[in-house]
Amino acid sequence: MNWGRLFMRIALLVLAGLAGEIIGVRVLGVSSVGAVVGFTTVATLWARREEWRSRRLIEWLKRDSDAPAPVLPGRWGDVAYHAEKSLRRREREIDAAHASQAQFLEAFEATPNGVLLLDSDNHVVWCNRVAADHFGLDPERDHLQLITNLVRQPAFVDYLLHGVHDEPLLLPSPRHQGSLSILLRRYAADRTMVLLQDVSAREQADAMRREFVAHVSHEIRTPLTVLSGFVETLESLDLDRSERDRILGLMRQQGQRMQSLVSDLLVLARLEGSPRPPIDRWVDLDNLLARIEAEVRSVSGGRHCIVFPPRTGLEFAAQESELHSAVGNLVLNAARYTPEGGEIRVEARMDADGQALVEVQDSGIGIAREHIPRLTQRFYRVDPSRSRETGGTGLGLAIVKHAIQRHGGELLIDSEIGRGSRFSLRLPAARVRRRWPVDTPALQNTVQSVDAPVS
Ligand code: ADP
Repeated sequence: MNWGRLFMRIALLVLAGLAGEIIGVRVLGVSSVGAVVGFTTVATLWARREEWRSRRLIEWLKRDSDAPAPVLPGRWGDVAYHAEKSLRRREREIDAAHASQAQFLEAFEATPNGVLLLDSDNHVVWCNRVAADHFGLDPERDHLQLITNLVRQPAFVDYLLHGVHDEPLLLPSPRHQGSLSILLRRYAADRTMVLLQDVSAREQADAMRREFVAHVSHEIRTPLTVLSGFVETLESLDLDRSERDRILGLMRQQGQRMQSLVSDLLVLARLEGSPRPPIDRWVDLDNLLARIEAEVRSVSGGRHCIVFPPRTGLEFAAQESELHSAVGNLVLNAARYTPEGGEIRVEARMDADGQALVEVQDSGIGIAREHIPRLTQRFYRVDPSRSRETGGTGLGLAIVKHAIQRHGGELLIDSEIGRGSRFSLRLPAARVRRRWPVDTPALQNTVQSVDAPVS
């Protein structure tokens, strides 16, 4: 308490009373009344002034504005100062809390997964865009709506209400193709966080892996069964020399088949696991084609008319073994799927815009249109028995496509049943150069691109 100020006020009242007394006696000739009037007047004015100050303070507090507190003297000034100080501190705390809440929500928004927050009665409190997209929610319209009214899939409702939440729930995506993994977490005692993850790609990769393993097992099991059958025959029967030789020949064939399969599988694995081929190591195409020509002539054994291009002078920035696999597989396929007397023609040229095209054309059995998009899938064969008869693994075109794509190029296929096929490898200009200038005829682009991913 400020004693000085209190003393001043009492003194003021006494002085007012004395002044009133003097005026009352002198002017009105009445004693005491003047003192009462003077005292009362000053006391009333004083009370009014206090009331006016308190009202200013209350008005300021009621306005809830950012305006500074009114400047008041005395105790009201103290009250205004402390009220403003605590108000500002509270505002700063609320701002900080809002900012940190906004940061949390932004973090949830930035995750690639869906996040949905539910209150204790499973009403939607908040969801990020991914969750809204998967469940078809509108964050504003569906705010505080019951989630089980919005997502009605019985498996989800059952999982939410009665499920064991240690394990995620796998659900077909309600709005998109594919699968969702849903996990629930309780927080803040009775609230629920629903986490959604699109696992379509993972599921697809798992399915592909399972299919691939099944294919490989099947491909290996068949020759193994044949081999063990022959071993039993050789052990149990007393065969003459020619019959023994025939069986040993068949056994060699099956062994070679397994060898080719394992070797193609290793090539594919290498293609998938190694970095992109460098852009500065140049391969001489003419040398490469000369080696492939020797290979195909040996496989053909003179049964086909084989035409390779004259020297092209072209060089490709490529991984030589991969380029060899790509072109070699196409040329050997041409020999395998072209009957005796047919023609196999290889051409290589540079396009006007600097791209290169290596074409392998045959006059063989050809391929029906509907098979073309699937030819580069692993183990896809138009005629499985013919493929196996000629030592095919069903992986050749998958290797070709993978190898050329790694060089930024593409495989194009054009074929007509009974008339033959043309397989073309197109390489981007950045990977092509010529050692000397040659006139190049314009390319006719009549081929079909195989855009399906290598699978
Ligand atoms: P495969 O080892 O069975 O030949 P590929 O992946 O090399 O496996 O080829 C896939 C399928 O494409 C073959 O089984 C065959 O049916 C078809 N094919 C490939 N090249 C030719 C071609 N030049 N002529 C006709 N069909 C072909």
